Amino acid sequence: MSGEAFNTILNFFFPPRCSGCGKFGDWFCKECFSEVVFVEKQICPLCGSPSIGGLTHAVCKRPWGLDGLISVAELEQPLNKAIYDLKYHWVKVLAPTLAALMIAFLQYFQLDFAGYIFVPIPLDNARQRWRGFNQSDLLGKEVADFLGLPFEPEIIVRRKKTLPQAEIKNEQERKKNMENAFCCSKDKVSGKKIVLVDDVVTTGATLQNAAKELKRKGTLKVWALTLARR
Ligand SMILES: [Zn+2]
Ligand SMILES: [Zn+2]
Repeated sequence: MSGEAFNTILNFFFPPRCSGCGKFGDWFCKECFSEVVFVEKQICPLCGSPSIGGLTHAVCKRPWGLDGLISVAELEQPLNKAIYDLKYHWVKVLAPTLAALMIAFLQYFQLDFAGYIFVPIPLDNARQRWRGFNQSDLLGKEVADFLGLPFEPEIIVRRKKTLPQAEIKNEQERKKNMENAFCCSKDKVSGKKIVLVDDVVTTGATLQNAAKELKRKGTLKVWALTLARR
């Protein structure tokens, strides 16, 4: 049976239904797409105040910190629901659509990240096994492929099990939770430029800790790209 015939049968039994509004026809419909609130003002990943192009302010810069952060959209409905479905309902088919939001945004602002390697923030092993995939992995691969840039999901690994950041309310606790959570080998990252990809940024503690590990091992530049920001 051809892939097309298979899809026709699959769509008959499991017709695509919009994650945002529930309407049949698409996994994320055009109306919901048009309701996504794109980020107008990027912020400095360290202090959270507005910053042109998402660059870390010169005064905020830390030797092992992120060089900048680009977030594509605000974590509001209907996007919030789509990200939730992507993560917890195994709706893997949503990944290309959500990645398309990121691609459209990067193209609009002419951000091509030339010379960078795309690296997704890894889940811990237990969560990856349970879920079967890593949503940041799916998003990062789509975007990197579109831009024609290398995608290397194996570069960073989780050193320890962490609680989901969203489950921790206290900021100090969040920082502690992510401390030394990541590990990478020097020969893979030294002298390189890397874009970390994640689905949602909240306080940035996860991304900052991954950046710290990369820079300790000699990475020249570390930017972060997230689909949404809370
Ligand atoms: Zn919809
Ligand atoms: Zn700042």
